[in-house]
Amino acid sequence: MAGSRNDLQRAAAEVLAAGGKTVALTGAGISVESGIPAFRGSQGMWEKFDPAEYATIGAFLRNPEKVWEMLSEMMDVLLGAAPNAAHRGLAELERMGLLRSVITQNVDGLHQAAGSRRVIEFHGSPEALVCIACWNRYPSAEKVREGIPPRCGCGAILKPDIVFFGEPIPWGAQEDAEAEARSCSVLLVIGTSAQVAPACEIPRQAKEHGARVIEINPEETPLTRTVTDLHIQGGASEILPCLIQEILSPHSGSQSPSENH
Ligand code: NAD
Ligand code: ZN
Repeated sequence: MAGSRNDLQRAAAEVLAAGGKTVALTGAGISVESGIPAFRGSQGMWEKFDPAEYATIGAFLRNPEKVWEMLSEMMDVLLGAAPNAAHRGLAELERMGLLRSVITQNVDGLHQAAGSRRVIEFHGSPEALVCIACWNRYPSAEKVREGIPPRCGCGAILKPDIVFFGEPIPWGAQEDAEAEARSCSVLLVIGTSAQVAPACEIPRQAKEHGARVIEINPEETPLTRTVTDLHIQGGASEILPCLIQEILSPHSGSQSPSENH
């Protein structure tokens, strides 16, 4: 991965501007600057609520009242969050015809709030609550107002329609994400530690089908030295606007950095 960050940004902008079929895969890191803490790395609510203890389906089934303490705090954090420049940048790339879709592991709705139209919610969405006994569905906002934990008409405690550890990926999302991975020519991987399966397999699938992989993350991940062609090290809300700026008015005469393959 040779080259300064400017060189890497120019190289990435060139790849994006070429107008191939670009797809983005996002994780919790893209929303950190919107005030939503990621799982790994720093603090926030995950110091109080260990994800291993609160984010597994087993934990929910054993003690839904306890897990709802975490969920109601999480929903408050999500409701108070607004998209940042990285979410807006992806929406802008889509409007420019340079981004086909966003596959997100996030459940915060911030891509849609920023204006992205084609969003594959790989881990579901908390907008609906689903009954684990009779599969009835309810809009979250109105049920949560009735009290925590929210209950189905049948008496069972409702679960937000997000994927807990140990649960399968919603069928349609899995199918759509795989199709995007197989057919894209560029995969933009932003703010994921690439440690949660099966989402972390998407970059490898894309690569095996010939895509170039551009990673935006302040840290290295298991992808960086194996799958990634170009790693731009930094925060997403800083990098995305730079990439768009570079696409709109490319610097002339800059030297292309070599990529690692
Ligand atoms: P993760 O918490 O495992 O990793 C976050 C990654 O983002 C890290 O690699 C970190 O270096 C990087 N990062 C931190 N700040 C960044 C920034 N400003 N710009 C770019 N990258 C940055 O997240 P994950 O890989 O998405 O896996 C965690 C799981 O938990 C996922 O299923 C995710 O959906 C869920 N989760 C979602 C939210 C949300 O909806 N916003 C928040 C926390 C966890
Ligand atoms: Zn029910």
